Amino acid sequence: MTERYAVIGHPVAHSKSPWIHAEFARACGQDIEYTRIEAPEDGFAAAADAFRAAGGKGLNVTLPFKEEAFRYCGARVSARARAAGAANTLDFMEACSGDNTDGVGLVRDLAGNLGFALKGRRVLLIGAGGAARGVAGALLETGIALLVIANRTASKAAALAERFPGSRASGFAALDGEAFDLAINATSAGLAGEAPELPRGLLRKDLLAYDMVYGKDTPFLAAARAAGARACDGTGMLVEQAAESFHLWRGVRPDTAPVLARLRGR
Ligand code: NAP
Repeated sequence: MTERYAVIGHPVAHSKSPWIHAEFARACGQDIEYTRIEAPEDGFAAAADAFRAAGGKGLNVTLPFKEEAFRYCGARVSARARAAGAANTLDFMEACSGDNTDGVGLVRDLAGNLGFALKGRRVLLIGAGGAARGVAGALLETGIALLVIANRTASKAAALAERFPGSRASGFAALDGEAFDLAINATSAGLAGEAPELPRGLLRKDLLAYDMVYGKDTPFLAAARAAGARACDGTGMLVEQAAESFHLWRGVRPDTAPVLARLRGR
């Protein structure tokens, strides 16, 4: 019998998750249906309850509901969701449980698809919203030498660094003179055609500049390329976090390479 999954968000019309999961299901011979649920901003719990009552087996959760989704699961959350205080994957197969696959998705894209060895690297994480919360723990677990979290609103970076021992916080201006091997833009600035206002010289040759925004050549990536850096968007993270959700739900790990290639139009 076809089992039902969905991505829930506000807005959610742009989401590529239904296409990605349909590709995974086809390749793995899994009989699932995966749709979108546009919930009102104050309607996450009601929409999740209704989907579950109608037999839905799991949800991916996107903006702005990841923190609410974490609370929705009560105590039944994975260690990585607990560390982030946010959930992007809900499993209704037995009781409702919550997980966060953003961090492992990012690390698999960096280390696997992009061949960037993280151990011993100096990493700058720009942003302190839900996306940054979701990946800080996974980055620290890879054995990086340094994690600096910088945000436009410096107090939010401080709160996030406190949550993740081993990292430290910074405002943008205070980054002047620092050198990193990897700069991850986890802000939504690129969606508005903007870039975080980083000190000159931070984007340089020998840097991997990664923007979590996907399918768009953001000003951050353009500036990085102009400075001689390697520039990559978040399409690989999107596919890898989806693959981890698919594995949690279905017990099979899809091959991400063909899906990533098709999404990039290659
Ligand atoms: P969020 O919780 O709304 O946080 C937004 C962050 O962006 C905040 O840190 C905010 O800084 C910063 N920001 C916004 N505009 C800025 C600007 N003009 N200059 C500097 N900083 C700015 O959003 P989120 O959930 O963290 O998501 C962030 C982005 O990651 C989104 O574009 C999302 O699509 C992407 N994402 C991608 C994937 C993937 O799989 N590729 C997964 C998750 C998220 P303040 O605190 O100062 O406001």
